[in-house]
Amino acid sequence: MMLKIDATPQNLDKKAILMTGAHHSRELVSVQMPLYTILDLLHGLVHGDPEKIALLEQNKYFVIPVVNVDGFYTIYEQYMKTGELILKRKNNDRSNEGDANCPLQTQGVDINRNYGYLWGNEEGPCSESYPGPHAFSEPESKAMRSMLYKYQDTIKMVYNFHAFGPMYVWPYNGQLDNQLEEENPDAQAIFNEIWDGASFPSTTLRGNAIKTVGYKADGECNDYIMK
Ligand SMILES: [Zn+2]
Repeated sequence: MMLKIDATPQNLDKKAILMTGAHHSRELVSVQMPLYTILDLLHGLVHGDPEKIALLEQNKYFVIPVVNVDGFYTIYEQYMKTGELILKRKNNDRSNEGDANCPLQTQGVDINRNYGYLWGNEEGPCSESYPGPHAFSEPESKAMRSMLYKYQDTIKMVYNFHAFGPMYVWPYNGQLDNQLEEENPDAQAIFNEIWDGASFPSTTLRGNAIKTVGYKADGECNDYIMK
């Protein structure tokens, strides 16, 4: 499901900002972040806040609150049964598990390792970051790819929200030595400008995956979009 918010549909030249949540289902607050952003903009529109009205006049907003719908539903289902939140990160695709018989929490494919740039297959099926048998093997990443192609001339910026820790992460997450500055200095400049203009908590780490989470992330969504 993708929500589309366009407060001035008569303006046909407007570009869109896409926000997604829950590539990783256990990062629950990553669903609230894009939804809250939209609510805040619409609240501002209704109450005549000039800053929010300007943002709505400048851009359209696309929101996919939950990319990993199956993982998210599994967490909900388990919570309703037991009252406990399980830390399930991946989807529910067990087709390549073989005899591994992974426990519920680690079944499936990591959707955010299943995209088609710098995809790698070093992890077994029960790993938290199992990337699937090949790039775009999963319905969720395939649907994202189709949507990105459909709106490639409309979308100008993408925020994929995660909630693993206090981190501001930019591509390329599949590279140890990040080449973004050399390959796309304009994009790097935008990430730097956001960093300078926003008020992140003082403990926030910034950079690609190796600089933030501390490991390389192959087949990652942001890398695919940037490429
Ligand atoms: Zn995540």
